Formats: sequence, structure tokens, C-alpha cells
Amino acid sequence: MDCLFCKIIAGEIPSTKVYEDDAVYAFRDINPQAPEHIVLVPKTHMDSANDITEDNISNVTAIWRAIPKIAKELHFAENGYRVINNCGEDGGQTVNHLHFHLLGGRKFTDF
Ligand code: AMP
Ligand code: ZN
Repeated sequence: MDCLFCKIIAGEIPSTKVYEDDAVYAFRDINPQAPEHIVLVPKTHMDSANDITEDNISNVTAIWRAIPKIAKELHFAENGYRVINNCGEDGGQTVNHLHFHLLGGRKFTDF
């Protein structure tokens, strides 16, 4: 499949990995919007949040299990952070492989 994040997971495109387990791959965003900007993806391809079902929601659970681990590891858990999922055209999604942005290291004032 011609998917940027599948290629990153496969190591065909380089990335700065910050976390990996059986279900999740997490790496630094190439265009960071905060001092800490991590992208978390399920290793199993799904296009967007619209593809989440009872059968595959364990991938999302795995992502949320990883989020506080990464925040603690990178020392911004205490100060707090923001998690964003962009879905579809109106949501501003540009890569069609489900992903969550984990942003930390600064205060987020605008919604
Ligand atoms: P979204 O706009 O929610 O689809 O987010 C896609 C994100 O992927 C953007 O924040 C991009 O900066 C990021 N991105 C695109 N290509 C790469 C790459 N090769 N390595 C790391 N992050 C990337
Ligand atoms: Zn993919």
C-alpha cells in the first residue's frame, strides 16, 4: 500500500522513533508544532478514525496506553500535554493512516 506512515513503520522511510510496541509506533513529527510533537500510529493500517470498530479498537487502546508512558519518559507528563486526532478533510487530516498527535513542552491556549 502506498502509505507514508506504513512506510515509516516498515523502516522504508526514516523517522525518529520515540516508542514502539506490538501495536504502536511513535515518532517525532517532521514539522513540530510544539517543543515535543510526537505522532502515534497503529501498526495496522486504517485510514482514519472513521475506520475504528469494535474489532480494531484495541489499537486505539494501545495508543492511549503509550501516551502517558511517552509523556513521562520525555518529562512533560507533569506539566501536561494535548492529544489531537485530525479526521478527514474538514478535520485537516493530511496523511490517511490513523494517527494521534501528542504535543507538549508549551502551554496551549487556543482551541
Ligand atoms: P495530519 O495533518 O493530522 O494528517 O498530520 C500529519 C502529520 O505528519 C503532520 O504533522 C506532518 O508534519 C507529519 N509528517 C509528514 N511526513 C512526515 C515524516 N516523513 N516524518 C514525520 N512526520 C511527518
Ligand atoms: Zn498506512
